[in-house]
Amino acid sequence: MSYYRHTKIIATLGPATESKEMLAKLISSGVDILRLNMAHASHQWVDDAMWFIREASAEVGRHVGVMMDVKGPEIRTGNVDAPISVAAGDEFELYIEAAQPTGDVAAVSVNYPGLPDDVAIGATVLIDSGLIRMKVIARDPQRVRLEVLTPGSIGSKRHINLPGVFVKLPCLTAKDEADLRAGVQAGIDFVALSFVRQGSDIEQLRRFLDELGSKAKIIAKIEDQAGVRNMHEIIAEADGVMVARGDLGIEIDYHRLPLVQTQMIAACRDAGKPVIVATHLLETMISSPMPTRAEISDVSNAIREQADAVMLSGETTIGKYPLESVQVMKNIIESIEPSVDAEINLNLELREPKPKMLRSAARLAQSLGESAIIVFTRSGFLAYTLGALRPRGVPIFAFTDNESLFRQLLLPWGVEPFWMKFHDDPEETIQSALETLCTRGWLKSGTTTVVITNVLARGVVIDSLQLRQAP
Ligand code: PGA
Ligand code: MN
Repeated sequence: MSYYRHTKIIATLGPATESKEMLAKLISSGVDILRLNMAHASHQWVDDAMWFIREASAEVGRHVGVMMDVKGPEIRTGNVDAPISVAAGDEFELYIEAAQPTGDVAAVSVNYPGLPDDVAIGATVLIDSGLIRMKVIARDPQRVRLEVLTPGSIGSKRHINLPGVFVKLPCLTAKDEADLRAGVQAGIDFVALSFVRQGSDIEQLRRFLDELGSKAKIIAKIEDQAGVRNMHEIIAEADGVMVARGDLGIEIDYHRLPLVQTQMIAACRDAGKPVIVATHLLETMISSPMPTRAEISDVSNAIREQADAVMLSGETTIGKYPLESVQVMKNIIESIEPSVDAEINLNLELREPKPKMLRSAARLAQSLGESAIIVFTRSGFLAYTLGALRPRGVPIFAFTDNESLFRQLLLPWGVEPFWMKFHDDPEETIQSALETLCTRGWLKSGTTTVVITNVLARGVVIDSLQLRQAP
């Protein structure tokens, strides 16, 4: 077997990668999950992308999960006919969509009617993902007058950040709901919700997905101060978390970002929830075939902190080197992972006897040297938990009979999922699993594996941990 990679790779789809040919290359290059960013996408695009992904996937014989990223309470500028240049010291105006600009200075509308209410005189307003900094100097119920502090050019639909402001937009907008309906229809596996600020945001999304009959896993994107403050309740409600460093680096003091990343990764591992490190990991590869030394260190850091997954955004949406970016990720992972602490996660609280058995299984497999853990799961809980235990050096082969769960198991650290019909007799199921692993080259014949399975003892189902030889 070639190197067994524990850390997963997520790539965002865009013009550079959305053709069927590029998708086939992207999938065979080792991407585990593809992200559909709904900031700019139409529903037709979602349908087409999904169709191409599944076709390309079947063609190259490798599966990927699909994550729909919905925008949540994001504030944006309206449309401008031509980009507006602003210089330091200039005055500028933001006005709500229902109103008109005053007319004496350059202005653009904003999609958030609560903006004038929410910002105090002196507050900072950032336009275009933090690039243009302005200060509030006056306001009325419909407009905010700003002084430009750092110059720039303001285009249509630019992202606005209000650091420290608890924005009073619903956590799911009408557009998000429409996007989700289209996504569920198309068969998405994960939903990532932007700007999650509290646990109840996740509950609300889950109720909405339940009504649609969707079992998509929910990833909470933590990207502002409220999200950081409430991270523990958010982690408890969500199925996974994204450290959304693009916005987070604007919404909090940028120099505290590494601390928050470390804290969030640890909190997720301890809660047994997968965590994704996102944005700017290989940013310069948008235009350069090689990453900077700083980017190599940043990716290594995420691997050392044992994030479940690293994510590519601009690198694979608009970049010139999307496939090279995936290869660079793989190379860094392969070099760094073997040096990472192999200690089993002791902070993960395991309450029931069966999950407790997983920690023993992980230790046992590690002590066997070249080994593997095989687990059968219908809800995914056992596989997600095994991943959270971080048994470095040991593949976790997770078998499920549920197609959608199978793709959802592509996210957690170290888990390689398989989709298989379960037999009535657990022994038959184990035999098919072992055969599958050997014929597909995942296991060498004779390897001693640790199997977590049910057995029938005088007609009673009992949990067991077994040592089984690969045939
Ligand atoms: P975005 O989220 O790319 O949807 O903005 C990620 C981030 O903010 O880092
Ligand atoms: Mn964001």
